[in-house]
Amino acid sequence: MQCDRAWVEINLEALTHNVRQLKQWLAPKTDLMAVVKADAYGHGAIAVARTALAAGATWLGVATVSEGIQLRRAGIEAPILILGATHTPDQIRAIAYWRLDPTLCTPQQAQTFSETLASLDRHLPVHLKIDTGMSRLGMPWQEAVKFVQAVQDLPHLRIASVYSHLATADDPDPTILYQQHQRFEVAIAQVRAANLPLPRLHLANSAATLADRSLHYDMVRVGLATYGLYPAPHLRSVLPLRPVMQVKARITQVKHIQPGTGVSYGHRFVADRPMDIATVGIGYADGVPRNLSNRMTALLRGQPVAQLGSVTMDQLMLDMTSIDQPQVGEIVTLLGRDGAQAITADDWAELLGTISWEILCGFKHRLPRVAVGQPQTSREASILRI
Ligand SMILES: *Cc1c(COP(=O)(O)O)cnc(C)c1O
Repeated sequence: MQCDRAWVEINLEALTHNVRQLKQWLAPKTDLMAVVKADAYGHGAIAVARTALAAGATWLGVATVSEGIQLRRAGIEAPILILGATHTPDQIRAIAYWRLDPTLCTPQQAQTFSETLASLDRHLPVHLKIDTGMSRLGMPWQEAVKFVQAVQDLPHLRIASVYSHLATADDPDPTILYQQHQRFEVAIAQVRAANLPLPRLHLANSAATLADRSLHYDMVRVGLATYGLYPAPHLRSVLPLRPVMQVKARITQVKHIQPGTGVSYGHRFVADRPMDIATVGIGYADGVPRNLSNRMTALLRGQPVAQLGSVTMDQLMLDMTSIDQPQVGEIVTLLGRDGAQAITADDWAELLGTISWEILCGFKHRLPRVAVGQPQTSREASILRI
């Protein structure tokens, strides 16, 4: 970290806290899947997966085959569900080889799996996706029974779970949420009535997990809340969660500018008084959205400092006028807490008209991930690259 201009700090203690809070919130028989797709929402999939499993998660969720393989190569043995759809024989062979659990969304896809697995002489647990209103992946809920029956009849496949995904669980108005819940219930009742063996069921993402325990079923699939953020303000009171990610960068130069001096590309900021400014080594190529130019603040010595002019690819400028002798090498907090002040991914998301999920995923691999705050070790000893 000494040699880095900027980095992402991952607080594994906060992650452990969040997973334990979630575990306590669930019924004892409900499994917790930690969703670690997109490199654990930018936090670093391997360290997050290991920590979440140690804290009580029993499943991992990824989006792609490669994300699953990355975890297996790291020696992680927990069951891994691929939430995205996979089709090609190459993907199916990789899934079988690495013991990943695929999601099946159509009978044709199930047929391809069965044939490819037959040629490998392998059996696989599969998870059937039902579309109850997201209109993304899955068989329409009205055809759930036919789908379950079709897969049941195929050799080499064992139905491990039936699941669906919610489109509006973060909305304070639960009308559509309960419409989807109702459709899921109807589909399950029909499967039961057809005398098909009832597999494990799951429906809830972070928002539904926090919103209503009757949506938990046998497992919940939690991404955002694991990372200490809330899917919506009205869900904040449910559990005390702690943000896991902080983003920091160093001051690389300090200068004094005169009134009339323009700052950064396009001179979108022009000083109207004498000012001290600092250049900081982080930019849009690292994941600080350029649309935050002239709108964001950072924290230094526990105080908010305004960002000035355009955010550039690798650097940005901050107003140091209120800071007594800012020093090259001083650490600025872009996201996170400094003293009594904190800036969250929700703050950025609100400024940008987007969601915190996108902010977290936006931090690029050019920034090293540094683990801090692991329990039982001194702070110095616990800083390690992940
Ligand atoms: C990403 C994802 C989740 C996790 O969503 P959060 O809102 O981050 O908790 C759960 N289920 C599926 C199918 C997903 O794609």
